[in-house]
Amino acid sequence: MLDSTRLYHPMKIAGEDVLADSSIDVRNPFTDQVIAAVPQARPEHVRRAFAIARVFRPRLTRRERARILFATAEAIEANRDRLAHLITSESGLCLKDALHETARAQDVWSFAAQAVLQDDVAVYAGDIGGGAQSRRIFATRTPLLGVISAITPFNHPLNLVSHKLAPAIATNNRVVLKPAEATPLTALALAELLYEAGLPPEMLSVVTGDPRSLGDAMINDPDIDLVTFTGSVSAGKKIAERVGYRRLVLELGGNDPLIVMGDADLDRAARLAVQGATRNSGQRCTAVKRVLVVDDVADRFAEATLSLMKRLRTGDPMDPNTDVGTVINARAASIIAGRVDAAIEGGARLLLGNTPEGALYPPTLLDHVPPDRELVREETFGPVLPIIRCPDDVEHIIAIANSTAFGLSAALCTNRLDYITRFVDALDVGCVNVWEVPGYRTELTPFGGIKDSGLGHKEGVLEAMKSFTNIKTYSLPW
Ligand code: NAD
Repeated sequence: MLDSTRLYHPMKIAGEDVLADSSIDVRNPFTDQVIAAVPQARPEHVRRAFAIARVFRPRLTRRERARILFATAEAIEANRDRLAHLITSESGLCLKDALHETARAQDVWSFAAQAVLQDDVAVYAGDIGGGAQSRRIFATRTPLLGVISAITPFNHPLNLVSHKLAPAIATNNRVVLKPAEATPLTALALAELLYEAGLPPEMLSVVTGDPRSLGDAMINDPDIDLVTFTGSVSAGKKIAERVGYRRLVLELGGNDPLIVMGDADLDRAARLAVQGATRNSGQRCTAVKRVLVVDDVADRFAEATLSLMKRLRTGDPMDPNTDVGTVINARAASIIAGRVDAAIEGGARLLLGNTPEGALYPPTLLDHVPPDRELVREETFGPVLPIIRCPDDVEHIIAIANSTAFGLSAALCTNRLDYITRFVDALDVGCVNVWEVPGYRTELTPFGGIKDSGLGHKEGVLEAMKSFTNIKTYSLPW
C-alpha cells in the first residue's frame, strides 16, 4: 500500500517508480490543504508505458489470473480502512461512502476472479445451412492481445478504476491507466496491491497528471488497441473525435429521473429520492438528478423529502457520522449554486440548502422546478434534489424524462404494472429500476447508457470482459 508518510508519490510504469520534472498537487477538498503530489507525466512517459505493454505477451493461465484477482479482492478487504481514508482525503467523499466503495470494489475483483473460471465458448451445429455439413463451429473468446488505454473520473476513485483493471487482467490484456488528476492516490495504492498480488508489472502502468499536458498520448498512441473512458460527455466526445481506427468504450454522464406516481408509498419514495440524490455527495453518474412527481401527491412528497433531508449530517468527511461530504472542489460547489440560483430566478422554490462553503455543498431541495432549467437539463454533479411537478399522465412524464440529452438510468416508484411496462418500454435509458435508486446494480450486471451517456457498450465485469476480447471461430468435422 501507498507509503502515507511520503508526500511525493511516483507514478508506476510497468511496476517501476517514475518521477517527472514537474508535479501536480493533490488537495483534500475539505481542508483545501495539499496532501500529496504526483508527477505530471509527459507524453514520453505515456509512450514508454504503451511501448512496454505492446512487447509484453501475457501468458497467465486462468488459474493464475484467478489467483491474482482473488488476492486483490482479499487485499482490498484487508486494507479497507486505509483505502477508505485515502478515498476520503483526496475526494472529500464521506467515510461512509468511501467504505461502501471499497466493498463494491472488492466485489468487482472477486466476481472477475470467478468469471475467469468459466470458458464461455459457444458451439454451433454445421448441418443447418443449405449445403448441410457434418461439422461443428466453436466460437471462443481471445484477449485483444493488445493494449488498453483506460481513463477514469474522480467520483469513485477505487471502484471505477477496478471496473477497468479487473476485467482487463481477467482477459490477459495489458493496461495503461490514467486516473483523474484530483484523485490519483487511490489508483496508485491499488496498483501496488496488484503488483504485490503477483501481477506481472508489464501488464499495468499508471500515469498521472493533467490531461492538458498529455496531449493525445492516451488516445491515439500507435500501440493502443482500445480506449475505455469513463467521465464527462464533453471529454468523451472530444476523445471520440480523435481516437481514430481503434475500439472505444465510453461511459459518460447521466441525468437520471426518479418518477413518483400517484399510487406510490410517498415515504418510501422520499427515502429513495434522498438516498439517490445525496450519497457520494450526489456525484454519481446515476445519482437522482430530477424527481418527476405527479402533482396530486407532490406536496406530501416534498414534505416527506424535506424532513429526511434535514436529518442528514454534513461536514468533515472524515467524521464517521457524516452523511454527505464535500463535492470535488470549491469551483464545482459554486457551479452547482449558480445553477440553483438560476432555477430559483426561473420560478423554482428553494426548500433547503444552497449555502456552499468552499467545497462543502449541503443537501439542497427545490420544488416547482421548470423542466427546461439548466439545473435539470444538464448534469448537475452534487447533492441537489429538484422536484419537477407533472400532470397525472404517463405519456407526459415520459416526454419530460426523455427530454434531456442523457440516457443512463431511471427509477420508478409505483406498483401499477401498466405504468411499469409502459415506462420500461418508453424510457430512453440503459437501465430502469422499480422501487430502487437509478444507480442500483451489482458489479456483475450489464451497466451503461445510450444517447449522450454512452454508445451502448456496457460495463459490469462480464460485459467489460467481452469488450476486451475478440471472438474467434473455428470449425471441425464432426
Ligand atoms: P472528466 O471528463 O472531467 O474527466 C474524466 C477523466 O478524463 C479524467 O481522468 C481526466 O483527466 C480525463 N480527461 C479529461 N479530458 C480529457 C481529454 N480531453 N483527453 C483525455 N483525457 C481527458 O470527468 P470527471 O469530472 O472526472 O467525472 C465526472 C463525470 O464522469 C460525470 O459526468 C459523471 O457522470 C461521469 N461518470 C460516468 C460514469 C458512467 O459509468 N457512465 C461513471 C462515473 C462518472
